[in-house]
Amino acid sequence: MTAADTRAVRLMHHDAAERPFIVIWEVTRACQLVCTHCRADAIRSRDPLELTTDEGHRLLDDLASFGPPRPLIVLTGGDPFERPDLADLVAHGTRLGLSMALSPSVTDRLTRSLLVDLRDAGAKAVSLSLDGACAQSHDSFRGVEGVFAATMDAARTVRDIGLRLQVNTTVTRGNVLELPRILKSVLELGAALWSVFFLIPTGRGKHLDPLTAAEEEEVLHWLHDSSTLVAIKTTEAPHYRRIAIQRAGVSDLDDVFAVGPLRSALRRDTAELLRGREPRPRRPRPPIDVNAGRGFAFVDHVGVVYPSGFLPTAVGSVREQSFPDIYRGSGLLQELRNPDAFGGRCGHCEFRTVCGGSRSHAYATTGDPLAEDPSCSYQPTEAGQVLPIRRTGRSAPATRTVRGRGTPS
Ligand code: SF4
Repeated sequence: MTAADTRAVRLMHHDAAERPFIVIWEVTRACQLVCTHCRADAIRSRDPLELTTDEGHRLLDDLASFGPPRPLIVLTGGDPFERPDLADLVAHGTRLGLSMALSPSVTDRLTRSLLVDLRDAGAKAVSLSLDGACAQSHDSFRGVEGVFAATMDAARTVRDIGLRLQVNTTVTRGNVLELPRILKSVLELGAALWSVFFLIPTGRGKHLDPLTAAEEEEVLHWLHDSSTLVAIKTTEAPHYRRIAIQRAGVSDLDDVFAVGPLRSALRRDTAELLRGREPRPRRPRPPIDVNAGRGFAFVDHVGVVYPSGFLPTAVGSVREQSFPDIYRGSGLLQELRNPDAFGGRCGHCEFRTVCGGSRSHAYATTGDPLAEDPSCSYQPTEAGQVLPIRRTGRSAPATRTVRGRGTPS
């Protein structure tokens, strides 16, 4: 393993079986948008059974009880701005030392004054969705006219009042060729992070067209190409970490990783769009080594805990057990932390400890969260080894991979 490999992926500084790195809490399922890919199958009005303010406080107390480094908390929905106690929840989490971020929908509720209140309550970051490069494509994705223009305005406001901006984009076959133009918007808006989500056929997303594994490989390489322009993370494509490791230290990238027609088109359009306006190249932000149930967990609007928002297999309820007890004790979460038990290619892949595949994709396709991830095209090499390395912190010795052979893209 070279020094470049070591820097290609960020490892957690603690044992992922003991505490999560990030927890997403769906504070409500209510939302006024009707997005075509909605995981939550959002509803118009708030569920009377959703966690109350007091229960929310107790959940945040539980999350803070992990102690430093405390998990990052993202309040999502539905639309979290549907909750009138949102600023109170943010302030409570902030008082406990939690880093609080928000993932609102762009509706009339997303006003400058509410954003200022949330910033004053301690919120650090806001993520907004941009799934199309223009009003026509974004608004049809979101199901409401005018959302594209409102999103651009809201993004400028977020930056203007000093909150960190994250842009989220869901990739499907319908919008994949718009990615270079979306990237241009991300750069112009000054986003700190671009989070690119690879569609899981769940919720309303069942009716959309996901990329094939080969197409996804090309897009992931293009994203890594683009990560010198803005910090990029992927959601439900952990094999981005495999690609980051494979590419580390390779100087002749195009020889090692064949450039397919999709990546070629994305690169050409990116170069044309940014000609003469490229930002100064930055060092790519290494992707963080978390996966469903391994450093990551999701709490739904009624307090049920899942390994991820896209893996609808409940592991407990915070109404019955504390979050730390669920996170540490759930049998399924423990299984998800043991990549040696995964099925198919993921179970013997030399990247399994640092990638492990999208457990949500595996579940959506086969009904088994431990099955092979069909959205990855990598063929593990027989010669691949898994090398032991020691993580920092209290964790047990963990494993790290050596670079496998180049994967044609
Ligand atoms: S085969 Fe599975 S573990 Fe290996 S890189 Fe692909 S998704 Fe990751």
